[in-house]
This record gives sequence, C-alpha cells and structure tokens, in this order.
Amino acid sequence: MKKKLSKATICVQGGYSPSKGEPRQMPIVQSTTFKYDTSEQMARLFDLEDAGYFYTRLANPTNDMVASRINQLEGGVGAMLTSSGQAANFFACLNICEAGGHIVSTSAIYGGTFNLLGASFAKLGIEVSFVDQEAPEEEIAKAFRPNTKLFFAEVLTNPGVRILDIEKMARIAHAHGVPLIVDNTFPTPIHCRPLEWGADIVTHSTTKYIDGHGVSVGGVIVDGGSFDWDAYADKFPGLTKPDPTYHGLTYTKAFGKAAYITKATTHLMRDFGSIQSPQNAFYINLGLQTLHLRMERVAASAMKVAEYLKSRPELKWILFTQLEDDPQHDRQLKYMPEGTCGVMAFALHGGREFANRFMDALRLVTIETHVADCYTCILHPASHTHRQLTDEQLAEAGVDPDLMRLSIGLEDPDDIISDIEQALEAAKN
Ligand SMILES: *Cc1c(COP(=O)(O)O)cnc(C)c1O
Repeated sequence: MKKKLSKATICVQGGYSPSKGEPRQMPIVQSTTFKYDTSEQMARLFDLEDAGYFYTRLANPTNDMVASRINQLEGGVGAMLTSSGQAANFFACLNICEAGGHIVSTSAIYGGTFNLLGASFAKLGIEVSFVDQEAPEEEIAKAFRPNTKLFFAEVLTNPGVRILDIEKMARIAHAHGVPLIVDNTFPTPIHCRPLEWGADIVTHSTTKYIDGHGVSVGGVIVDGGSFDWDAYADKFPGLTKPDPTYHGLTYTKAFGKAAYITKATTHLMRDFGSIQSPQNAFYINLGLQTLHLRMERVAASAMKVAEYLKSRPELKWILFTQLEDDPQHDRQLKYMPEGTCGVMAFALHGGREFANRFMDALRLVTIETHVADCYTCILHPASHTHRQLTDEQLAEAGVDPDLMRLSIGLEDPDDIISDIEQALEAAKN
C-alpha cells in the first residue's frame, strides 16, 4: 500500500477518525468551555505545560479537526481557523510583525487585503511596500529593509488570475531572512501546494471554494514549519524570546517547528479573539469533503467556457492560464498541472455599455461580488467594485475598464455557454 494518502482521501477523512461507537460524521462540539477534575490540571493548561481544551476562544475540537484536515491537504505542521479570510491574513502578518515593522507585498492582491495592508496596517505603525510580482528579482529585492518581517503574495491573483512564480518569491524572501506568506484561496490545496514550492506559511479565505456553497465566512492559516526563526532571532523576538504572559516560555524552544502556529493560537486568539464558530467549522468540513471533486469540475467547465468565449467575434481578450496561448500557460503546467480554478477574466468589444447590456441579459449567470463557489457569477469591476473611478484612474490601478471576472460554478457548462450565447446576441440590440 502507498504510504502517503492522496488528497481525495484527506478531503473525506483527514483530521477525524472515530473509534468504536463514535459518530461517523465529525461532531460539532458546541461548548464554550471544558471540564477538569483538579485545579492542578487546569493550571498546567494555562501554563501551556499540558495540551487540552479549556476555552473555545483558544481551541475547540471541531475547529481543530477541520484545521487539521486543511493542514494535511497543504502538507504543513499545524493550522488554525479564523473567523474570516481577512482575519487569517491579518493574524498571519501580526503574528510576526508589530509597530515599527515593515512588510513587502505584491500589488496584485485581493482588494480587501490591499486595504488591510495599505491602509489599516499604517494605523498600527506597520509600513508596507508594494511590488510588481513580474518585476526582475533585483528590482523586487530593493523593497526590502532591515526591519522587513515578511513577504506577502497571492498564488492566483484576483481579478487577473495570474499565477505567482512561487519559487522566485521564496528565493527573494529567504535571501532577506524573512518568510514567504501566500494566500492560496483560488487554487486551493487541491490544485497547488505552495509549501512544496518554498512558501513558509499559507492562508485561505475558506469562504470561497473550501466552503464552496456560499454558506459560511471563514479563514485558515497553515504553518509549513520550514522557516528557521532562531536563525534571525533578533528579527522575530515574539517567537524566539521569552513571553512574560506565559511565565517566560519561548515558543521556538517549547514548540520547535510549530512555534509560529502555536503562538498564533495561544497569543493572538487569546488576546484578539476572532475565532471560527464550531458550527461554521462543521460547514467547512462538509465543503472539504467534496473539494477535490468540485475543483476538478470547475476547472474543466471553465476551460469549456473559455474556449467558447475565444470562438466569439465579440471577445476582445481573455485571461485564463489553462488556455494554451495564455502568456502564463507554461507556469500553469508547472505549478497547477491539474488546472487552476473556475475563475477567468475577459473583455468584450463595445466598452462599458455593451458589457452592461450583456450582463443584464444573463439569466443563469448572476451578477455578484462573490466568486469561487458553486454558482456561476460575473462581476464588472469598472461598473461595480471600482465604479467611482474614471477609465484613466482604472488604468492607473491596473484594472482594464473592460475587464469582466467570470467565476464558473457547478452548473452544466453547456447551460452556462447557452446563457452567455443568448446574452451576447441580446446585447447587440
Ligand atoms: C475573499 C478573499 C479574501 C477575504 O476573505 P473573507 O473570507 O471574505 O474575509 C482574502 N483573499 C482572497 C484571495 C479572497 O478571494
């Protein structure tokens, strides 16, 4: 028998193996607190001398089982669920960067993350420099400073769906003695495992494909255990120096490779909260059990739709790396050989007006700000999320005024294509 379980098996069974008479499905442990027999037992938990549950803000069995399943899928040493994807990216950075620190981030990232890094972090005294991920290594390297604590990037960007050259980014981060933290929301661990390419920490908005049914907001941080914090002890005192709030415990000494993720739980969750609820964790568990099937399906359906769009004279351009003539097709074959996800970006001739008539004529494909779940949906940033900007300002922000983001769901791809076809015809009138 082969030793390593495949992703499909982990999706279904990872993180929970019931013994005799226990529930087959992962139970929801709907309890804020946990019982102990002696005062001594409880005291040892508070000193982190024993592992165990005592309060759901720090840890809960359902949350832990789901985190463990995602951790196994990503190939990490430990994971922690958060209340949202925003919270995951916030805590992933805050765990090793505080006032006076500096972050380097790629600029083609999710709008919410861009605001978090570009605006809110400044208020916490953390400076962020943005770089173009396609710039040469020497160029990107110039953004790093002595007080830089991490390099942040997205594995598959939104809305341009460009693939990060993870190996290049890891090389730059490590040359500057900082970890590479990547948001892997769009490909999911089914289609890309960034830790295998040199990333150190992975985050997700589980709200997207992992949940997949549009029911629960959530996030997760996975620790690859690969970064040597002690080699840069002065840069990361929170992990390498004694923590007075735990009687002088040092995370790297006490928890070794799992120092980062343990601190995220015992320190950040203790002090800032923002936990996932066990009920929502249970929904995430249901999503995970079919994630492998859904990712395969959306990537295949998106390919069909992309090929159809290419056959239409109304198409101005399309970005979908699974297409052979996409400029990043080779990179797709390297990092995501089984497919990317269901999201593509395209533009039609005829400008904003034609695009709006096209979108208004769609029946099955719905107009939504959401993306990456079981429903096929479309968004036109110039008319929706970026509508306050002029075409010139959009160009400066790197958003083509004609760009539409299409996220293919689990409906029959032929029905999606028929809907697009009738809407293209209707838009001409
Ligand atoms: C949606 C999204 C987020 C934010 O996640 P929420 O769960 O909505 O807080 C972060 N990163 C990416 C890539 C996303 O698509």
